[in-house]
Amino acid sequence: MWAVTDRLILPAALRAALLRHVQESPSLETCGLLGGQAGRAISLYRITNLDPAPAIAFAMDPREMFAAFREMEARQEVLVGIYHSHPMSPAAPSARDLAEAAYPGVAYLIVSLQTADAPLLAGFLFNGSSFVPLTLAAD
Ligand code: ZN
Repeated sequence: MWAVTDRLILPAALRAALLRHVQESPSLETCGLLGGQAGRAISLYRITNLDPAPAIAFAMDPREMFAAFREMEARQEVLVGIYHSHPMSPAAPSARDLAEAAYPGVAYLIVSLQTADAPLLAGFLFNGSSFVPLTLAAD
């Protein structure tokens, strides 16, 4: 069963925490996971980007991912979202994002930092073969 279908509820505090995280390193792709229940994001898990070219790509630290999944399980959450930033490109999945998408039914959140003072957050649902736009609701 998919964790997310037509929309993801992203409470304002969590949205702010996500934007804060990606804005700490605006020239690098920053990434993390969102745990939650029933299409609602509840917890944010910062994950280190280990990609050798972190300005243009991200690769999540597998140990930190594993730790996050354990913590979600302890909190009775499931993976509802995966976020990362695009320092210099739009808030849309890249060809590589699609090639590496591995979690159908999970929201992919992308923050574009092209306009420094106005980060743009967009959501997409990976349906197993492509990304479709996803509504991010505050509540
Ligand atoms: Zn990307």
